[in-house]
Amino acid sequence: MDDNKEIPKILMVDDKPENLVVLEKLLAPLEATLYKATSGNSALTLTLEHDFVLILLDVQMPGMDGYEVLDMLSWDDRTKYIPVIFITANYADEKHQLKGYRYGAVDYLFKPINEQILLGKIKVFLELYEQKQQYKQLQKRYQLILDSAGEGVFGLDLKGKIIFTNPAAAKLLDTKVDQLINQPFSNMLKITDNSDPFEWEASELYKTLKSGNVLYKDDDIFIKFNRDPLPVEYTASPIHNEKNQVAGIVLVFSDITLRKTVEAQLTHMALYDHLTQLPNRILFEKTINRALARAERHNRLIAVMFLDLDHFKNINDTLGHDVGDLLLKGVGERLKTCIRESDTIARLGGDEFAIVLDEIEHPEDATIVAKKIIEVLKAPFNLDEHEVFVSTSIGISVYPLSGSDSITLTKNADIAMYRAKHQGRNNYRFFSNGMNEENIHRLNLTQGLRHALKRDEFFLCYQPIYDLRQKTITGVEALLRWNHPTLGVIQPNDFIPMAEEISMMTVIGEWVLKTTCLTCRPWLEKFPRLKTISVNIASSQLLQRDFLDVIGHAMEQADFNPKNLQLEITETSIMTNTARSADLLNRIQELGVTLAIDDFGTGYSSLSYLKRLPVATLKIDCSFIQDIFDDIDDAAIVKTIIALGKSMNLKTVAEGVETQEQLTFLEEARCDEIQGFFYCKPITATEMEAFLQKNQ
Ligand code: C2E
Ligand code: MG
Ligand code: MG
Repeated sequence: MDDNKEIPKILMVDDKPENLVVLEKLLAPLEATLYKATSGNSALTLTLEHDFVLILLDVQMPGMDGYEVLDMLSWDDRTKYIPVIFITANYADEKHQLKGYRYGAVDYLFKPINEQILLGKIKVFLELYEQKQQYKQLQKRYQLILDSAGEGVFGLDLKGKIIFTNPAAAKLLDTKVDQLINQPFSNMLKITDNSDPFEWEASELYKTLKSGNVLYKDDDIFIKFNRDPLPVEYTASPIHNEKNQVAGIVLVFSDITLRKTVEAQLTHMALYDHLTQLPNRILFEKTINRALARAERHNRLIAVMFLDLDHFKNINDTLGHDVGDLLLKGVGERLKTCIRESDTIARLGGDEFAIVLDEIEHPEDATIVAKKIIEVLKAPFNLDEHEVFVSTSIGISVYPLSGSDSITLTKNADIAMYRAKHQGRNNYRFFSNGMNEENIHRLNLTQGLRHALKRDEFFLCYQPIYDLRQKTITGVEALLRWNHPTLGVIQPNDFIPMAEEISMMTVIGEWVLKTTCLTCRPWLEKFPRLKTISVNIASSQLLQRDFLDVIGHAMEQADFNPKNLQLEITETSIMTNTARSADLLNRIQELGVTLAIDDFGTGYSSLSYLKRLPVATLKIDCSFIQDIFDDIDDAAIVKTIIALGKSMNLKTVAEGVETQEQLTFLEEARCDEIQGFFYCKPITATEMEAFLQKNQ
């Protein structure tokens, strides 16, 4: 920079050349270029050609005098700030001196001039000039830095207004520097929530800076003038004033589009298979884990499928790797057509593919996909003029049956896949270690149960209860059935425990009550000897808060007389809720409804406890009746129960009577009523109506 340093220029003006020579000599020691003019006119011309640091001006001159020259200088912006020192021999009085100052001279010296004084004064101006030069250089350098910087630079005041910026910033934001100046910086910030007006003083930028800290963001977005987003990183530092207060912000930012692209590419490379562009093993595992978390939350199943192409090695070996690669790509494409958007296909390496079926309803959903895959691979692949046939073996594991974490699930799917291979390839296998077929069935039922009620899959059968003394049907028990869409009619013992598990039994029980009341109400009128309609009550219903209302509503809706309704409660369920049972049973009895203890003899109830319950009937469990003739104990128990019933004034009903011998035994033991296949199996409502018609 020093090379460019300009040597200061001094102009000396005097109409007498000899004076100029004297002056020139005097000023010779100074580091300055000296210019001479012998008239006001030539002095003015020179000032337009050169930048002078100082003018030494004679006052008295022919033509234009010194005052006039000074006056002329003050008219032009380029010259009006040049300091002028008057030097005179003749006008050495105060009047002229003052006039000189009035015209704007910085000094007014009389001849003879003291050399030292003059030189001293001139030196001051030279120094000032020097300083100004340095300042200018500095300014220039700053501007140069700003202009040539690759980064965008913003100077903001404390209100967030842009007070300076550079061409790079303007270019990055797709605008011009002067369009940016005085604009609020917030225009450039990405404001995610448009409904919220941006508040500068609430912004992170303002807050960090106000605290005097530097803010660094390595991943942010600015908004260009065309509203496109610009990914940026930036550093914002506070600008301090002389009092060391934060007076503004200087923000230096750069475009990180390239970095972001590279990052995205790297991520893609790390997570996707380069050949098929399908997720790789790493992403696959992440996907399973995410799917697992969701399935757990929503109580759903997921299936993990492992696929291995059959005899892929042969294809690779005979047709070459290029064809092998094309085949893998083609298989990937076809697999995609077999799944839903929410499912994921991955290539785990080699000829191994894997699929996550997200949130399925039944394990069978995986079967459907597996069959589809086998089907879709049947058509030949036309690769490089070769017609290639390929099949696959598929292993399936289902969460939560075959594992509850990604490692177990993938491992088990892999095991299942090997089994499929061993069993002749081109097929699929569910992972199982014996347990699973049954579990799948169970799980299937559970899933189906959730929808059974609204899909109207339940129906009721009715079984008559025969009074041994009156020799007629006095009761009917309603028995629940589930007509499963694929498995057919399922018996209550096979689904009620599951319905209890998933808390569905209360709503189902409510449906049973209502339906029974509505169906049986007309029978009571038509067949006057029919007195009791029995409905089984599940354990969970006893805990239902509004159970009494449920009973009330069911009867009300069907205009059903409470005295004709009998609720059967198993001995076990009474015993598991003893605290609540007594109170509840009393209240049920208060409704006018009678109560029976079902499956009596299996629940180990204490007889003294039973005595206190408002029960009208004991139903002796099938198992005792069945074994009357094989097991002396059972015969004794049945007799005892009947005798006990008599003593407690309870009606006894024997369930599961299948033979004449059993019937005779029970008659002799003076059992009150019997129920069983011997007399009639549970039958549909229509059949029951016909049966009653015939038998009453
Ligand atoms: P349960 O209340 O003891 O019903 C009698 C069961 O014995 C019925 O079985 C009936 O079909 C069967 N049974 C009747 N006669 C004979 C016979 O001669 N031999 C044999 N081996 N069995 C006979 P089901 O219908 O399968 O019901 C089983 C159990 O499921 C019922 O036992 C009852 O505890 C429960 N259940 C049925 N429907 C409902 C219902 O709507 N709600 C509730 N909570 N439980 C129900
Ligand atoms: Mg029953
Ligand atoms: Mg029973």
